[in-house]
Amino acid sequence: MFNLTPLPYSPDALAPAISSETLSFHHGKHLQTYVTNLNALLPGTPFEGMPLEEIVQKAEGGILNNAGQILNHNLYFGQFQPARIDNYPTGRLAEAIALAFGSFDAFKSEFEKQGTTLFGSGWVWLSADAEGRLVITQETNAGNPIRRGLRPLLTFDVWEHAYYLDYQNRRAAHLSALWPIINWDEVARRMYAE
Ligand code: MN
Repeated sequence: MFNLTPLPYSPDALAPAISSETLSFHHGKHLQTYVTNLNALLPGTPFEGMPLEEIVQKAEGGILNNAGQILNHNLYFGQFQPARIDNYPTGRLAEAIALAFGSFDAFKSEFEKQGTTLFGSGWVWLSADAEGRLVITQETNAGNPIRRGLRPLLTFDVWEHAYYLDYQNRRAAHLSALWPIINWDEVARRMYAE
């Protein structure tokens, strides 16, 4: 059985980038539903008792969709912190971003563009390949880059439920507001942790 991973901050900690109301619905209702659905689907299948990442790598259909959404949301909610002025990556991660995209500003611009142009519901990801090179990918629905053999580092949720209460249809405005609340120490930990 999987449980709802608690938020690592209070529901009002990310405002105004993400309001308390959006965070409460997104975590307490949307993510909880994926947890409830997965727990109902798993019994009697080969995926019962399997770690979440392995389910996402091996499953298809409804089990993949619900497990993928749980993994994606755990990474998403786990990458934020209260807003900081001059918030940017440092050290090895900053160097890897500059190597892959030219500069941090160029990376942000490309990441927002990939998120804005993703048609329908999905996720835009920053991931590392087996050689440690950084790549941006678009994933539709519940997609996660671990299905492509990549290591997921950072993600923006572009399902409307992630922003509609605060930004209505203005997805680009929502995405550009997220940079001050990224916890770059957590993103670096994901990249360099064994
Ligand atoms: Mn979501």
